[in-house]
Amino acid sequence: MSAVDNRNKKVALITGITGQDGSYLAELLIAKGYTVHGVVRRTSSLERSRLRGLYEDDAIYGKSLFLHYADLEDITTLRRIIAKVEPAEIYHLAGQSHVGLSFEIPETTCELTAMATLRLLEVLRDLPHSPRLLHASSSEVFGAPREFPQTEETLMNPVTPYGCAKAFATQMVRIYRSNFEIYCLNAISYNHESPRRGENFVSRKICKAVAEISLGLRKRLTLGNLSACRDWSDARDVVHGYYLALQNDTPQDYVFCSGVLHSVQDMVEIAFQAVNLDASAHVEIDEKFLRVTDPSRLLGDPTKAMTLLGWKPRYSFRDTILSMVASELELAKK
Ligand code: GDP
Repeated sequence: MSAVDNRNKKVALITGITGQDGSYLAELLIAKGYTVHGVVRRTSSLERSRLRGLYEDDAIYGKSLFLHYADLEDITTLRRIIAKVEPAEIYHLAGQSHVGLSFEIPETTCELTAMATLRLLEVLRDLPHSPRLLHASSSEVFGAPREFPQTEETLMNPVTPYGCAKAFATQMVRIYRSNFEIYCLNAISYNHESPRRGENFVSRKICKAVAEISLGLRKRLTLGNLSACRDWSDARDVVHGYYLALQNDTPQDYVFCSGVLHSVQDMVEIAFQAVNLDASAHVEIDEKFLRVTDPSRLLGDPTKAMTLLGWKPRYSFRDTILSMVASELELAKK
């Protein structure tokens, strides 16, 4: 690997810092004594973002947290930020990450997810002391997998523009790792939820509705396919895995997941039980929320991350849902 002389500086750069994972990762790294630099889109509003807690804390913002404006397409600015900040670690989390939307805007998705990662790798290739890079890949790269459960070795077979863009980026990371001796790796994560999940994801939608129904603010929750299954983890556990992955001496890819499938129905039941309500009295199905294709075989095997990194998720599926309902109750009361 290329000599990295700034390893002991504990300086990290996060792209996508305003997202669910970026905000948790920033908190985790700051708690570990890092100086964290975040790349923020020019259009992002920090006051209303998930970073607000850190951004408005005078003891943190401007001391251990710094934000820089740059769009992912603007590689010149990104290069300048990297040269100035000299990070020891880069966590590349940014991209167009909405699977459904990727069918509407495939070119933008490929620009922001595939090409932006390649450009970042090119920047690192030119540096005398390249920082360590983690690329947040996704189970969507497996698409219609030929293997069940999937591991780091499973062949990629994406079935969506988003999955295809991620597969390109994932493979480029492998190519740059083996050809240019850059320390870079893929963290292939499955669905991961938390109170900071975007509202268009089913977990947040369910927990928000359950909180509002229990407070008498609404009566019904309308969903699509209740028998759809996912391998769900907690975002707080996943970002801890990201951190552990970059501390290992050799760069390798890891799958981060729970290794268990749960259905949307399971999620609905846990959420309604949390507020002592009967789900069947409130849930209705609307075909408009059904998907044309819904991956059915996406289940990961987290053995490598657990054995090699000592990664141990702290939140069970139930814990995550309960924490989300609790957070939605707080928000709804406000
Ligand atoms: P995704 O895996 O990135 O698509 O994550 P989502 O949280 O959006 O969806 C997870 C699963 O929930 C999918 O299989 C959906 O078909 C299913 N689902 C059922 N009803 C809904 C709904 O009303 N909204 C969403 N977003 N998903 C739903």
